[in-house]
Amino acid sequence: MAKLQAVRGMNDVLPADAAAWQFLHETAARVFASYGYQQIRLPLVERTELFKRSIGDVTDIVEKEMYSFEDRGGESLSLRPEGTASCVRAGIQHGLFYNQQQRLWYDGAMFRYERPQAGRYRQFHQLGLEAYGFAGPAIDLEIIALSARLWKALGLSGLQLELNSLGTNQARANYRDALVAYLQAHEDQLDEDSRKRIARNPLRVLDSKNPQTQAVLAAAPSILDSLDAESREQFEQLQQGLQALGIAFVINPRLVRGLDYYSRVVFEWTTTELGAQSAVCAGGRYDGLVQQLGGGEVPAMGFAIGVERLILLLQKQAAAVPARTPQLYLCWQGEEAGQQAAQLAEALRDAYPSLRLVVNAGGGSFKAQMKRADKSGAEVALLLGEQEMAEQQIQVKSLRDSAAQQACAWSDLSGQVGTLLGL
Ligand code: ATP
Ligand code: MG
Repeated sequence: MAKLQAVRGMNDVLPADAAAWQFLHETAARVFASYGYQQIRLPLVERTELFKRSIGDVTDIVEKEMYSFEDRGGESLSLRPEGTASCVRAGIQHGLFYNQQQRLWYDGAMFRYERPQAGRYRQFHQLGLEAYGFAGPAIDLEIIALSARLWKALGLSGLQLELNSLGTNQARANYRDALVAYLQAHEDQLDEDSRKRIARNPLRVLDSKNPQTQAVLAAAPSILDSLDAESREQFEQLQQGLQALGIAFVINPRLVRGLDYYSRVVFEWTTTELGAQSAVCAGGRYDGLVQQLGGGEVPAMGFAIGVERLILLLQKQAAAVPARTPQLYLCWQGEEAGQQAAQLAEALRDAYPSLRLVVNAGGGSFKAQMKRADKSGAEVALLLGEQEMAEQQIQVKSLRDSAAQQACAWSDLSGQVGTLLGL
């Protein structure tokens, strides 16, 4: 029988990498909360219809990347390829947008049938954040400032903020005509995918990764020249706000998003350290989506972070990820010592709720137990044998420096451990 393996493009996150994931999630939850954003937890599976109506029928995601299937009742369902559609669906369903403003975030697995490569997977994870019911540029500024603060809190540097405005639907329709005329005039120089897109989704041509197509696009009309007055005004206010906060950015008039629902400001945080998969966070305004899905006129703005790409960057930049390995390892021998070890360990955990303490299990000589202690990454080992039992003591031995082993009375253990580990 063939060896059982994970599905292509779907990864296990092993314990050595999980510390970085935990660090990212805890830091993000803290930063999101510090701006008043609350978590919403959404299902992995939705009706296929939801994604067709939101992301757009002629996008790559809906045309070729969705995991869609019929359930036993004959209904077409899909694994979610992104989180915004579900968030809007939930908000409408539960009346969250009715005369209310909402600041929400979500996280979890997303699924797209893409060609797997570094930073691009079939099951990947996003941390997403959305604000509903805010029209002005103030919320755009808040959300971008929040993302900048998150990179800082994670200890990341060198991320570049790219900005663009897509204008209103009307402005975009005008631009689309100008762009199509230009693309048609240069059709013979475009790659095949881009040629196909001219009629169906011309703005996506701007996003082509083909170098020759990119060269042709250098002289294409700019979307910024088609902006309506209000979009232009909002875009300028956002730029002024960013300057006032000292957040650097570059304007990229060819920045479009892979989903049809965006309008006005769009942005991406990119890095040069991850090769072709350069965007670690992407977002923008999508004022029309709530209405498009059957809700009211609710302006909205949000972003999604590609968790795997951010983890790769944390590892590349050797960011200071807090350790999750044990601090203390308790070795013991003898039945009575085993019971005493459990009691001492529970008392230590009572005293220091965040202490990471492993009690040896599965027996072994002290020598074998000390090997396990060392391998666990613990800083300090505790040893409880027959003699210590008789004297109501425990041996305390540093595993990372040459400090001499010391006996410690059970009654002093909590204080001693606190001092040693700086708790
Ligand atoms: P790309 O241009 O890289 O395909 P996208 O425009 O499809 O990205 P979004 O749908 O806006 O991306 O998703 C937001 C973020 O999620 C991206 O910036 C990226 O960091 C991450 N992401 C998207 N698709 C994948 C994937 N298949 N694997 C890993 N991360 C992904
Ligand atoms: Mg994509």
